[in-house]
Amino acid sequence: MIDNSLVVLNSLSGKKEPFEPLKTGYVGMYVCGPTVYSNVHLGNCRTFISFDLIYRYLRHLGYKVRYVRNITDAGHLENDDDAGEDRIAKKARIEKIEPMEVVQLYTVDFHKILEKFNTLPPGIEPTATGHIIEQIELIKEIQAAGYAYEVNGSVYFDVLKYNKTHHYGILSGRKIEELMNNTRSLDGQSDKRNPQDFALWKKAEPQHIMRWPSPWSDGFPGWHLECTTMSTKYLGSSFDIHGGGMDLKFPHHECEIAQAQAIHQHSPVKYWLHANMLTLNGKKMAKSTGNNILPMDIFSGNNDKFEKPYSPQVVRFFMLQAHYTSILDISQDSLDASEKGYQRLVEAKRRFAKVSPGEKAGDFDTDQWLKKCYAAMDDDFNSPMLIAHLFEAVKFINLILHKNHPINSDQWQTINTMLEVFIHEVLGIAPVKEFSDDTEDTLNKTVELLIEIRNKARAQKDFETSDNIRDQLLQFGVQLKDGKDGTQFTLN
Ligand code: AMP
Ligand code: ZN
Repeated sequence: MIDNSLVVLNSLSGKKEPFEPLKTGYVGMYVCGPTVYSNVHLGNCRTFISFDLIYRYLRHLGYKVRYVRNITDAGHLENDDDAGEDRIAKKARIEKIEPMEVVQLYTVDFHKILEKFNTLPPGIEPTATGHIIEQIELIKEIQAAGYAYEVNGSVYFDVLKYNKTHHYGILSGRKIEELMNNTRSLDGQSDKRNPQDFALWKKAEPQHIMRWPSPWSDGFPGWHLECTTMSTKYLGSSFDIHGGGMDLKFPHHECEIAQAQAIHQHSPVKYWLHANMLTLNGKKMAKSTGNNILPMDIFSGNNDKFEKPYSPQVVRFFMLQAHYTSILDISQDSLDASEKGYQRLVEAKRRFAKVSPGEKAGDFDTDQWLKKCYAAMDDDFNSPMLIAHLFEAVKFINLILHKNHPINSDQWQTINTMLEVFIHEVLGIAPVKEFSDDTEDTLNKTVELLIEIRNKARAQKDFETSDNIRDQLLQFGVQLKDGKDGTQFTLN
């Protein structure tokens, strides 16, 4: 049975609204995926982890969710502009490889990284280049509706005309008059009637290699169009949730709304959810500014930003300790605090699983606790609040473990099951691998041997070997920690 107390912050209204999907029991969710022209940085990952949390909780509530997340492999130009070079084509030109090689390289990287963060794959992962025919059809529909014009083989969306009968700016709050005042006038190079208009189809210059035939020219589709095309194709002209990072609200999502409204004359999306940005040194993590860090460099510790490595699960936990709509700044201190919190939680859960309950109930209201956990998640997926409630249970567990406080089997059962559900199923923290005593013993001895070899290497100042051992072990999920009492290790 699906509990109906979930509320979500809808960017369209700016308010928290009760979540009532269009079709009872079913949810259609579209999330803008990556443009695969470079390695995903940690900022990108935050957005995908945020929507993984949302996907997981909706599933946990019993919804049948169709989750579509695209791969942008064409049409996303530099500076999110209509005149820049295609990001993928540019990378291909610089690296002297095929655009498809660029796409393959970074799609594989994207999947690998998201798997490390234990995110669930979407049900459908369509690519822009796989939907050129559908995009051409959609342009024809926009043209037929009277909101597009063709100039020299390119087709543009007529924003000013659209705004006469609709509201361009409905999502972002931008005012067309202000946009007109703030944008450079066209320099005569552009075919556009107005700077606010955006490309639905662009004629390719002779040197542009990513090109497809169309009724207008050999060219390529616009970035905004691909998401409208793929969301409509797989989720229909009205669907429940559209997500993406906050920075996509304008122009990308605003333009998506305009395109869909132009054709269907109704709003395409019931709830627009936007994930907030990950910052580094107080500034948005971004590929273009170089203010970013790659996930693999955090996992291995090979970076100049942090003093030690952090496992994917610690980084995920760190992200979930902030609400997805809040800005989150990453720093050594905050990562260290999350690592401690993560270890405390996981360790308490592991030890609690081995507790034998007695007859007498302990002083812990499990029903009340459960209600609070659900209330946190029902309040727009408030993961930091949920984590705070999980720590309440950890306090109780520690009383049982260290002070022999009582616990009866009903309490044990509820707490044990719900820790499992909330930590792994909902928050998506990957379970720590458990081994049989024999295997664990062998593993411990093997790692201890490696630690010994590493210490010898360090004593001889052979840091290449010592760092290599540490980094390689981390790749296998074994994290070494140097402290006053020697080197300890944890399995992730
Ligand atoms: P892109 O590959 O540039 O199209 O971005 C993929 C996703 O990552 C989009 O949803 C962006 O909004 C999101 N994103 C980019 N930078 C950040 C950041 N610093 N923090 C959180 N999300 C981000
Ligand atoms: Zn999109």
